[in-house]
Formats: sequence, structure tokens, C-alpha cells
Amino acid sequence: MTKIFIPGETITTQEEFSAGKKTFAENGLIKASVLGEAVFDKTNRSVSISGHATETAGPGDIVFGRVAFVKDSMVVIDLVKGENGKKIGVTKGQLPVRNVAHGYISNLKSYFKTADSVKARIVDIKDGVTDLETKDKGLGVIMAFCSNCRNELKFSNDKLACFECGHVEQRKWFEQTNVGDDGPPRNNRFDRNGRGGDRRGGRSNDRRGGDRREGSGGRNFRNDSNNRRDNFRGGQR
Ligand SMILES: [Zn+2]
Repeated sequence: MTKIFIPGETITTQEEFSAGKKTFAENGLIKASVLGEAVFDKTNRSVSISGHATETAGPGDIVFGRVAFVKDSMVVIDLVKGENGKKIGVTKGQLPVRNVAHGYISNLKSYFKTADSVKARIVDIKDGVTDLETKDKGLGVIMAFCSNCRNELKFSNDKLACFECGHVEQRKWFEQTNVGDDGPPRNNRFDRNGRGGDRRGGRSNDRRGGDRREGSGGRNFRNDSNNRRDNFRGGQR
């Protein structure tokens, strides 16, 4: 007969056994530090917890997986493991576009790409599929590769960039807040400028034009300089 212990549950006393793997001693008692089955080694008089009898991840639990492919309306993810050693019951995961971010996602295929590693929360498991969501900060893509040269992308200055070839990409990156297309207008504008590449040159021309023309040109210049300051502060964090 085997008995499963939960973390913190008393297995035996220190008089009888010593604390082995995945156990700890407290006030003369030996307790389980992880969920699992107790294994008594009578030769060495020690007890340990065997890791294989782990709990299966369910709704509300955090899981890790890899993007298998991306459709227009959902990301299909092969789940690999759960947080805190929990195992995966149903490995086929799906992340519907409405569960991706708090913001509106217009082009799902630019927020997830095949082979990205993803951290997500289980919403539900039914009909052989695990439903996932990645709305909050901390969830989303945790590792991604450059679609140009396959190097690992690095998150820096609020952008996900390839330090090998300079490619800048979009993802539902786990460290970012307010992911989606409906953020404040000035952020959208900044993103477009950032992707445009030769942003600095373009801005300095606008600036001169704005000074000459006044009116709406001058207003554009002020907005742009605010964007630049925000960007700079972000880089110092
Ligand atoms: Zn690259």
C-alpha cells in the first residue's frame, strides 16, 4: 500500500527515520516538501518522497508549452509541464484570440509564432483540449526566436529584438503590460515609428517643418518629443 503525502504533511518521526530527498525535519517530525509517495529505506533508516506521483494541472494552474501553429483565431500549443512540478493531463492546448491580452489583438499571427515557448493559465479542460489564457502580465511568450535568423530574441527597451540581425518583432511578451492594438494613441503612433526604421531622421525633418508651419505641425512635434522621452525613460529602468 502506498500513501500520497501533500507538502508539509507529517510522514514519520525523526526517532524512526532521517529526512531524505524531498522531505524536511521540523520539531522532531519528518514532513513532505513536495507532493508524492513516501519511500522508506529501512537499511539506511531514511525516508524520501518519490516525485512521480505528482498532481495534474487543472483550471487556474499555470502551465508551460510550445506553440505548434497559429491560426487566425487561436494559437495551438503543445503543453509540456505545469508550474510547481504539476504534470499535464491533456497536452493539446488552445489559446483563443479573445484570451490572449486585455487589449484587442487584430493579427494573432504577429503575437505568437511556431516554436515560441509560452507560459499560460488553464481556463478549462474539456473534450480532450486544454483551454488557455495569457491576459495578465507574467503570461505569454517567454522565449522566442528571430523569424529572420532564428537567434533568440531579447526584450529590451520595451521591444523584442534580435541582437544578431537587428530584427524587431512583436509578441504577447510576458514582461509587457497593455499588449494589444487599443493602447493609448501615442503609443500606437510610437510603435509604428519604431518599426519604420529610420525614425530619427524622419522626426528631425518633421520638427523643422513644424516650426515653420506652426499649427498642426507644431502639435505633432510636441507629441513626438514626448514619445522620445518616454522611450528614453523606459531604457533606463
Ligand atoms: Zn535575427
